[in-house]
Amino acid sequence: MIDAGQPWNAAALLRAIQFLGEPLRRIVITHAHPDHAGSAAELASETGALVYAHEQDIHYLQGRACMADADGYGPCRLLLSTARFLRLLDPPPIEKIVAVSKDDMIGTLRVIYTPGHTPGSISMWSEDDGFLFCGDNISSTVKKLSLNLTWFTLDFDRLKCSTEQYRELPVNMLLPGHGPAFGGEKCSRELRRLLGGGSVY
Ligand SMILES: [Zn+2]
Ligand SMILES: [Zn+2]
Repeated sequence: MIDAGQPWNAAALLRAIQFLGEPLRRIVITHAHPDHAGSAAELASETGALVYAHEQDIHYLQGRACMADADGYGPCRLLLSTARFLRLLDPPPIEKIVAVSKDDMIGTLRVIYTPGHTPGSISMWSEDDGFLFCGDNISSTVKKLSLNLTWFTLDFDRLKCSTEQYRELPVNMLLPGHGPAFGGEKCSRELRRLLGGGSVY
């Protein structure tokens, strides 16, 4: 499983896992925002799955630090502080997490370290299928892709720089954290527009 929804999504995710009829063995968290890590603790304890995340985001996932205290873009920090005040920011703490870093393999997926949105944001790349799971670095609507240069991102410049790595990947299908998947020619065209000149497969 890549990302684990909001804290209140656990029952629905467990039903989906049951429907698929395969045991859940691994949960990869692309970054420590509550809409991506919210149900991870509950799913891990229900299924015994191992949780993986980048070492730079693990202390937020385990409740040892709060992202509202991280360095970064002022309005984003204000948004995070407000969310903390409303008790909407910190995902339920995950007891055990396997730390991953750049180029580690989780099953057949490679970790691409793409910080910026959060300090420990990662993307997952399936070389066999050309599938790229980009977390919140890129979002999609039905018509287009856009970089997450919003108040939700702590460091825009770092995010932009991180997404440069996508240029070198022969992406068949982009799967963003928010919005529909983009495939085929439409995906290459939109990535080219987003990342500018240079080689996009
Ligand atoms: Zn998100
Ligand atoms: Zn996010």
